[in-house]
Amino acid sequence: MKPETLAVHAGREVEAGTHAVTPSITTSTTFERATDGSYPAHSYTRGGNPNRDRLETALAALEGGADCVAFASGMAATAAVLQTLRSGDHIVLPDDLYHGTRHLATQIMARWGLTASFVEMSDLAQVAAALRPNTRLIWIETPSNPRLKITDLRAVAALARAQGILSIADNTWATPILQRPLDLGVDAVMHSTTKYIGGHSDVLGGAVIVGEGREALAQALREVQKLVGGVPSPFDCWLLSRSIPTLPYRVRAQSLNAAAVAAWLADQPNIERVHYPGLATHPGHAVAAEQMTMFGAMLSVEVRGGLAAAMQVAASTRLFTQATSLGGVESLIEHRYSVEGTGTLTPPNLLRLSIGLEHVDDLIADLAAALG
Ligand SMILES: *Cc1c(COP(=O)(O)O)cnc(C)c1O
Repeated sequence: MKPETLAVHAGREVEAGTHAVTPSITTSTTFERATDGSYPAHSYTRGGNPNRDRLETALAALEGGADCVAFASGMAATAAVLQTLRSGDHIVLPDDLYHGTRHLATQIMARWGLTASFVEMSDLAQVAAALRPNTRLIWIETPSNPRLKITDLRAVAALARAQGILSIADNTWATPILQRPLDLGVDAVMHSTTKYIGGHSDVLGGAVIVGEGREALAQALREVQKLVGGVPSPFDCWLLSRSIPTLPYRVRAQSLNAAAVAAWLADQPNIERVHYPGLATHPGHAVAAEQMTMFGAMLSVEVRGGLAAAMQVAASTRLFTQATSLGGVESLIEHRYSVEGTGTLTPPNLLRLSIGLEHVDDLIADLAAALG
């Protein structure tokens, strides 16, 4: 079935017993055993519950995966992936990526003996050169945060597979509507469901979707999910299940808006540079056009005049709210350098824009006034 149909129907079957068309929220933490001692459905809600089942079914279907393991946040999902590795293992990550992922690898996981290398992942030769005998995982993020660098998913997945290394793509920014890494040979996909999948800036969540034939990874993630316990509540799962049916339409409308905003920004004298893979001038444009159906609703700009000028613009918009996060129905603008902390490679004059569902003319008028 097509994504629009899966978004409405996967994990949203009419409920047995109540015949409710819309899923109910099951708040019970414990579930009755049968007279023979078996568990007809679930045992204890950390191990599983009906709302989490529905969410995991929907996300696995949308990404074309064999299984999905849901977590309480994107960071919990990322941590779970790293917790499937062993002390002494080495991982390769992109030099531009979600700063929390960088800090998790270098601050927390380093204490447990994991080593990490950060490379320019749009250059396959640099990825190959970073591999060591103990490399176990290549972490991909494309488009990357906040500079929207593009990694060739098919090429990196093939490189990893040839060496027996796991490849995992953070697909938060593209969503399964615009990009399906598992179809291109990547072993698993991670999402911060807080972003486009939730879509309304009112729920935190994460998930890992594992491709066919990667049952051992799915098993290892289930073990972390249950024993480490960073699980989403039934209500959080329900909110996400409620948001998924509109995902294809939200993401496409937001991407259309973003393409128009990016094209307009590229012509503004106060803007030095626009980072948006939909622009023909973007170095990753050809690869993005190959592996994405649209170019997404995130973009970054470098403002002429440095840090102070960028901060001034972010403080001057009226429709764009100056706030972190992304993927909601409302447009946001954020100065990333001041958020990301020490070691960031983000330029001080960079502003990141999450384009929402407002009318694009109003968004452009707002930016025009702020830049003026
Ligand atoms: C937000 C985000 C994360 C972290 O997810 P949380 O839900 O905030 O824990 C990871 N990767 C990307 C690309 C993100 O945008």
